Order: sequence, then C-alpha cells, then structure tokens
Amino acid sequence: MRVALIAHDKKKPDMIMLAVQYKDVLASHQLYATGTTGKLVMKATGLSIHCLKSGPLGGDQQIGAMLADNGLDLVVFLRDPLTAQPHEPDVSALLRLCDVQSIPLATNLTSAKILLEALKRGEIFRQTASE
Ligand code: PGA
Repeated sequence: MRVALIAHDKKKPDMIMLAVQYKDVLASHQLYATGTTGKLVMKATGLSIHCLKSGPLGGDQQIGAMLADNGLDLVVFLRDPLTAQPHEPDVSALLRLCDVQSIPLATNLTSAKILLEALKRGEIFRQTASE
C-alpha cells in the first residue's frame, strides 16, 4: 500500500511515537511524507520514506496531486486543530481529495492507530482509478 504521513508541528512528537510503534507494519509499505515530518520519522525509525516538499511550501499540494492520480491508499495527517496554519487552503484541499477519492484518512492519533491496525491486518485495499 502507498501510505502518506503528515503532521503539523505540535503533532510531530505524536507522529514519531506512532511511526516507532508501527514501524514493522509501515516497513512493508511504500511511504510518502511532507518534508519535515518525513525527515523526523526517518531519523527516529530508520524507515525509508519518499519525502516531498515541506507542507507549507507545497508538500500538502504534492500529496493532493498524488491523491488526484490515485497514487495513495492511506493518509495519516495528524492535524493541530488549535493553531492557525498559513497553508490552511492546502490542508483543506488535501482532506477534500481524500473524500473525493474515498481514501482512508486519519486526522488524529486515535483514528490513526485504528487505521494502522487495519493496515496490519491487511484490511486496507489498493485504490483503483475511478476515472
Ligand atoms: P511538514 O509539513 O512535514 O513539512 O512540517 C506538514 C504540514 O503540512 O504542515
């Protein structure tokens, strides 16, 4: 499966904890991440991750473009709901595209764990192109 990992700054410690906890599961999938999140997770876990640009510099839009091309099967985006983000339009567009393509999306730690457990059990399926 093709999995994207994204975390706003205050949620990066949670993302690292999650990636460490699910390292063995994540290791058998293709991983993508926005720049800073990806670098931190790689450093903490040793996982191989294709890092895109940093989120505020276009990384969220790159993830969005992948979603539009049916290039992702699961998105974990640990959002910070209490801090204004300069790139909020990019964040909204990414989330919207998950819904357009019906891609499993977790936006907080608890739902992320549920989706990663499902990934571990082989219950997340590869998305096929709709059009
Ligand atoms: P970052 O981007 O991983 O480069 O910090 C995340 C975000 O969209 O804010």
